[in-house]
Amino acid sequence: MGFSTLAIHAGQEPDPTTGAVITPIYQTSTYVQEALGQHKGFEYARTQNPTRLALEKNLAALEGGLTAHCFASGMSAIHAVMMLLKAGDHVIVSDNTYGGTYRLCERVMRQFGLDFSYVDTSDIAQVEAAFRPETKLIFLETPTNPVMQIADLEAIGRLTKDRGIRLAMDNTFMSPFFLRPIEWGADLVVHSTTKYLNGHSDSVGGVVVSTLAEDAERIGFLQNAVGAILSPFDSFLVLRGTKTLALRMKQHDANGRMIAGFLAEHPKVRKVYYPGLGDHPQHERAKKLMSGFGGMIAFDLGSLSGARAVLDNVRLCSLAESLGGVETLISHPATMTHASVPAAKREQLGITDGLVRISVGVEDVEDIIADLDQALNRI
Ligand SMILES: *Cc1c(COP(=O)(O)O)cnc(C)c1O
Repeated sequence: MGFSTLAIHAGQEPDPTTGAVITPIYQTSTYVQEALGQHKGFEYARTQNPTRLALEKNLAALEGGLTAHCFASGMSAIHAVMMLLKAGDHVIVSDNTYGGTYRLCERVMRQFGLDFSYVDTSDIAQVEAAFRPETKLIFLETPTNPVMQIADLEAIGRLTKDRGIRLAMDNTFMSPFFLRPIEWGADLVVHSTTKYLNGHSDSVGGVVVSTLAEDAERIGFLQNAVGAILSPFDSFLVLRGTKTLALRMKQHDANGRMIAGFLAEHPKVRKVYYPGLGDHPQHERAKKLMSGFGGMIAFDLGSLSGARAVLDNVRLCSLAESLGGVETLISHPATMTHASVPAAKREQLGITDGLVRISVGVEDVEDIIADLDQALNRI
């Protein structure tokens, strides 16, 4: 079945009691048992909830995984992946990973005896050089946030298979519509469902998709044992979101390409980071791995005052953290999403004070361009 058909139907049988086409919000904490030990597969709602289960089946199908488990946020999903490891294990992480992932690794997981190396995962030699006997996991983000570097997923997938270690991929930026990490060798895929999967900026959540029975078992165990579950209402919202994922992603991509082209030509813009542009250092690799480039763009205005002029003067674009919603959001990584990354490290990663990130929405593209143009001309 095609992607859109799966998005609309996978995991979603009409409700057996009423025939409701849409999976209801099962707002209950527990389920009656007919007799001791006799139940319908649902005992207590931290452990199982039918709305969450429908979403989990849907997301497992979209990523082509064995199982999916939904969590209260993208961070709790990433935390669950880290909890597959034990004290003494070492992890290789993309060096310009999401700021919250960096904070989780450095300020939480390190206290439990995990060690992390941050490398430019778009350079396979750096990945190989970071290996140690204790390395158990590569945690990859591609494209990276916010400067949009593309890792050679296929080569890294082979490397992790050869060495018998896990490859986990944060696929939040592309969504399974444009990039299917499991097909390139990922063992685990995570998302902040807060972003494109939900797509309407009205829910916070996360998911871990597993491909190996052993991991699926353990992630399910951790979901219940730790308890950071996605609520029935949020599960309903994300399930509603995935139905239009294909439609939305096509429009994010079409608008993204137009806006990247506009920014690349604009005299006030120093540099544009978008994998769809011919001068992007991994443009060819992006074309091979992904079926579209999406709606995430970063651009450098050369100074904090330049960035401020744009951010203070946009009218249609909203100054806000987050991404992946139908509305265009614009942000300043150095002081917003990446404020928890030390200043020296930010500079080294290209997250300069003049860098602006835009999550292109699905509005009429001429309106977004007109808004950016008037704001850029205030510099
Ligand atoms: C937002 C985001 C996260 C964290 O997800 P939350 O839902 O905010 O906890 C992780 N990775 C990426 C790439 C993100 O954009």
